[in-house]
Amino acid sequence: MIHRVEEITRIGVFTSGGDSPGMNAAIRAAVRTAIYKGKKVTGIYHGYQGMIDNTMFDMDSRSVSSIIQMGGTMLKTARCMAFKTPEGRAIAYEHVKAAGIDALVAIGGDGTFTGAEIFSREYDIPVMCIPGTIDNDLNGTDLTIGYDTANNTVIDAIDKIRDTAASHNRLFFVEVMGRDSGCIALNAGIAGGAEAILLPEKDTAIDELIDMLAQGADSNKSSMIVIVAEGDKNGGANNVAKRVKEKFDYFDTKVSILGHLQRGGAPSSADRVLATRMGYAAVNELLKGNSRATIGVRGSEIVTTPLEEALSKKELKLNEDLVEIAKIMAI
Ligand code: ADP
Repeated sequence: MIHRVEEITRIGVFTSGGDSPGMNAAIRAAVRTAIYKGKKVTGIYHGYQGMIDNTMFDMDSRSVSSIIQMGGTMLKTARCMAFKTPEGRAIAYEHVKAAGIDALVAIGGDGTFTGAEIFSREYDIPVMCIPGTIDNDLNGTDLTIGYDTANNTVIDAIDKIRDTAASHNRLFFVEVMGRDSGCIALNAGIAGGAEAILLPEKDTAIDELIDMLAQGADSNKSSMIVIVAEGDKNGGANNVAKRVKEKFDYFDTKVSILGHLQRGGAPSSADRVLATRMGYAAVNELLKGNSRATIGVRGSEIVTTPLEEALSKKELKLNEDLVEIAKIMAI
């Protein structure tokens, strides 16, 4: 969709859905790029909920001072059921229009993108999306904001678990986030030297896992770590541990579920730079007349993909080479 760029005087910025480290850096970049280009900026609190509740405020360059190093999102986020209804979106649009907002930058995951696509089409308002989620499960980009930081958080945890596992000859099952996507499990599993990695995209039978663990025990491993993505079809780390223990009692078995700590923390250098490039690109694309698209990165290039395309198909992000490498590295 092409719109008249001279009609954009005020850009609304918001974060929505699950938070991820680096969202603040994206907000900062979008705000400062818009101001640099002579545009006004409105911050919208709590994503789509803030449009409906009319919790919006004027932003300037100082509104985003000293946030690049912070996890979470200074604009807050929310899941908003009312925005899924035409009535909810009508109220949201009234408030957006009354605030003088002519274009939107939405930072979030695929739910956020879906809402943005529908809203932009319904009310003919330009929108650019920025992929912010630790899961790296969005189309149109190799990487999402927060994924690198989450991997670093997970390997930090695995390293610490390895110390205690090796001291006691223990078998640890570590559950990491990823309901549909095994990206964190696979990458952090390789970086943390996991003995086995269970992914939502792959079926790993418990007997197959036990064979792998038995080989490790035969080759004198003093500790073993199995990474289980939360969406693994065996039903999570507690279930897997229980079923393995029934048949394989060689090691003392422990479970550690990392949970929400994976979503927090200071963003890594890579996420800060990625978020800054994406925030900058989102505003520039709007001002070039581009809309209803998501910013992404392909190799080292920043690209855009129409939301319709990004939302319509599922890109397979799992790297089969890495799956094979992980197995070989565990011998
Ligand atoms: P994420 O953006 O992290 O995937 P959600 O799936 O919760 O998180 O989506 C964020 C918000 O986007 C939802 O709470 C809702 O307000 C909005 N949204 C999601 N799906 C739709 C939809 N089909 N129509 C309108 N809004 C939607």
